[in-house]
Amino acid sequence: MNQTSNKPKKIESIIPPPPHHWVGNGFKVNGFFPGGLRSESRMSPFFLLDYNAKMELPPSEKPRGVGVHPHRGFETVTIAYHGKVEHHDSAGNHDIIGEGDVQWMTAASGILHKEYIETDFNKKGGAFQMVQLWVNLPAKDKMTNPKYQPITYNNFGKFNLPDNKGIVNVIAGNFNGINGAAYTFSPMNVYDIKLNAGSSLKIELPENYNTGILVIEGDAVINEQKVPENNFVLFKNKGTEVVFTAITNCTFLVLSGEPINEPIAAHGPFLMNTDKEIQDAIDDYYSGKFGHLED
Ligand code: MN
Repeated sequence: MNQTSNKPKKIESIIPPPPHHWVGNGFKVNGFFPGGLRSESRMSPFFLLDYNAKMELPPSEKPRGVGVHPHRGFETVTIAYHGKVEHHDSAGNHDIIGEGDVQWMTAASGILHKEYIETDFNKKGGAFQMVQLWVNLPAKDKMTNPKYQPITYNNFGKFNLPDNKGIVNVIAGNFNGINGAAYTFSPMNVYDIKLNAGSSLKIELPENYNTGILVIEGDAVINEQKVPENNFVLFKNKGTEVVFTAITNCTFLVLSGEPINEPIAAHGPFLMNTDKEIQDAIDDYYSGKFGHLED
């Protein structure tokens, strides 16, 4: 009885924000996973979700963020909902993402980068809210060349919902024939959905894809369960339909991807398949093979 039927995707759990920790001195994040899930591969290909819930950032003359550090074996995806994040990497990319923008960086064989609150915004302060995702790469792509995709809000695939209900911004994958802006190495859908108060939306996501939804803003009902702001809904791999109802104006981040069924060896900023590859990453980093980036 393998056939996929149009049944509601079953909710496994609704996860409130875990206690925050600081990433560098700039990002106050709730780490929803991997720590909060029963296995490191539960949301594969998504390995990590750090969420800086909306906060008022006080003005500061002191730079805030994370200094130069390496990554290998995966992609870092940063979504700015409020405020601005600046980035430099050893492949020569420098960029600022602002409200609604996405930075999709493929570390792959190795990169050094620094990420911090953009200089002017840091001095002025204001509302700040962002997400960082770590998207795993299939083993065959882990040692490909680093890559950088700046995806501004205007470049998203956009599907305007009828009757002024809202919009589905397709960051990656496909929604109703609209393609996402990001190139991905494995099949996935990443949507930014804005739904106006009182509106409902039904979407379909493949049954076998690991799926979760972060409520970025507003109070919602998802598949008949009430979900407060800043909570993460983890779905079982059963059923295909997700029905959203926005009680207030809502913003959702939808993550749904085909699992990469390969071993995981994770250590700090490296995400590989074996312990030997982790050791190689550490050796390569200390011997300068990740390039150079000024502090
Ligand atoms: Mn990083």
